[in-house]
Amino acid sequence: MTTTGNGRGSSGRRGLMRAALGVLLALASVVLLPGSSEEKRVSIYSTVANYSLPVAERNKVDYVGLLELLEPLGTVSAKLNGNRWRLRYNDAVAEFTANKRKARVRDADVQLPSNFVLESGRGLVPLAGLSNLLSRILGGPVAFNPGARRLFVGNVAVHFTAQVSNPASPKLIVNFTAPVNPTIATEPGKLRMTFSHDPVVAPGSPKLTFDSAVIASATFLESNGEAEIVIDTTVPLLAAFSNNGRTITIEPAAAAATPALPAAPPAAPVSTPPSAVPAMVASPPASGAPHYFAVVDASHGGDERGAALTEQLAEKDVTLAFARLLRQELDNRGLRTLLVRDADSTLTADQRATFTNAAAPAIYVCVHAASQGTGVRLYTALIASGGGSSGPFLDWDTAQGPFEALSEAAATSVAAALHSKQFPVRTLTAPLRPLNNITSAAVAIEIAPPANDMSRLSSAAYQQLIAAAVASGIADARDKLQAAHR
Ligand SMILES: [Zn+2]
Repeated sequence: MTTTGNGRGSSGRRGLMRAALGVLLALASVVLLPGSSEEKRVSIYSTVANYSLPVAERNKVDYVGLLELLEPLGTVSAKLNGNRWRLRYNDAVAEFTANKRKARVRDADVQLPSNFVLESGRGLVPLAGLSNLLSRILGGPVAFNPGARRLFVGNVAVHFTAQVSNPASPKLIVNFTAPVNPTIATEPGKLRMTFSHDPVVAPGSPKLTFDSAVIASATFLESNGEAEIVIDTTVPLLAAFSNNGRTITIEPAAAAATPALPAAPPAAPVSTPPSAVPAMVASPPASGAPHYFAVVDASHGGDERGAALTEQLAEKDVTLAFARLLRQELDNRGLRTLLVRDADSTLTADQRATFTNAAAPAIYVCVHAASQGTGVRLYTALIASGGGSSGPFLDWDTAQGPFEALSEAAATSVAAALHSKQFPVRTLTAPLRPLNNITSAAVAIEIAPPANDMSRLSSAAYQQLIAAAVASGIADARDKLQAAHR
């Protein structure tokens, strides 16, 4: 889900970020689209990946593609033989017949609640039979919540507690058993945290009430592959992440806007050329222009095609597709993101750096794609020693210098997130432009196909998994990035 401003009764799209007490306070004022027009989806949570897939309705029964569902979880392939569809997942074999309920998994009969559907070689299975079918294919416990269309593979549920501290100056503290990355949105009287990719499950009672006039209750809801925690309030609220995404603190915006500590430097307008601004680019005032946490740069473009990954596939197209997915994943995590190019345009490295430095994000991410190697390479700048920086201005070619440690910290966090999703990842330094010219944390990411299978590099599903992991890694480092950013 992306932020949108075309809903009813709202003040429209507006994002504001503040740095207070060294914590990112991010509030994207978002209007959720009315549910009716939303595509039906099913979400899958597992230790290797969290993702969601579209639901296909056939004869008023909800189905999902079985190959797509299993693909992120392991090695899977399917073969069509007449009206029989044979699927291999790791060491398990499952056989289905078009328009039949009876299937065989690991040499045992399995009865589907509705007929198996075969469409142009694609096998669809009814959602209602998923927990039984998948626990046999995967060989472990699988729980499916049919009302919300949320599927839990193994013991992955994230639990939470919520309590209001100090009713006089209320603060709602929500603690999760694992890091979470909800989208946070407000509407009059409510703050809504939407969990699209987190296996957050209901507390003992779906509605928690608090002894506070300002923050009255928190209600857990789940539908269409998503979970939500909705806070009822009488005042505007702000949410802050801490504890590596395990804690969300929600408090009245008025209280959050006046930090208790005198540490925050006053916001100062930038008067020098952006390319020469060293470090302290202040956040704009809350009422000011939109402020971006990340700038994502799809390398190459226009006349400059980048590498010819195959005869048809140009690097410039892969980088743009991936940059758009990454923007969505970052936006989903409350990290407002700007693309350097959102079209097939030609830009020089200097133009990209100048654009980025003017936007003054907390992090810049440059995207490349390669046909060689597997998984992901992460680059930070290699700065030539003895740069000519003097006085308050940085030398253009070594402008990245003061941000090297921060860039490395961001790369380490992204590498950890990719690694935890089983992507091969290498971290390198290179004199790669325009990284050298960026006056914020800056990393380049080069995506390569899995096991040199070029066809999958352009697959949205593969790119999506990498984008989600990269966004998680950036979100995990948000406290650090934001602290330096302010
Ligand atoms: Zn490239």
